[in-house]
Amino acid sequence: MPSGRTHDLVTLLSLAPTAVLAWTLTRDPATSALVVAATLFGGLMFGPDLDTASRQYSRWGPLRFIWWPYRVFFAHRSRWSHGLLFGTLVRVFYFTGIVALLLIAGVYLRALFVHGAAPGMTEMLEAWSAIQREIESAVGRRAMLAVVAGLWWGAAIHTLLDVLASIARKLLDIF
Ligand SMILES: [Zn+2]
Repeated sequence: MPSGRTHDLVTLLSLAPTAVLAWTLTRDPATSALVVAATLFGGLMFGPDLDTASRQYSRWGPLRFIWWPYRVFFAHRSRWSHGLLFGTLVRVFYFTGIVALLLIAGVYLRALFVHGAAPGMTEMLEAWSAIQREIESAVGRRAMLAVVAGLWWGAAIHTLLDVLASIARKLLDIF
């Protein structure tokens, strides 16, 4: 398989063409910049190889515990991490879920220590949807779409490179 370093290099090389493509499609500098930034993030830190002990995984530093269950649960190079359709989708939902859990735990602990009483399930869900609304109105739908598109594209480049390398290896085996 291509090494982490090769994947990084291809991600970096893809940024200029990605910028051109995003600009052609959106004609908006801010949206294009977001797509490029998300492609970079998707390639370096939010990519398919979070399913194994990889550069992407170790780049999360002390926060890499977030991805530990993901790493254990999904087999390396399975369709749930490397698939063009499911890879990014699963990661976005997984990451949002983990962040939600951490926030809810924070709200719970805060209520416990500040008010001396544990909050109910409804209160916690209300806190979470308030946070969600806040993020959505602060970031905007267009920007969120640009980020998801960039994350998907960054991961897609990774998967395509993996697939190309496999094909090249098989061809070499034939000869
Ligand atoms: Zn991979």
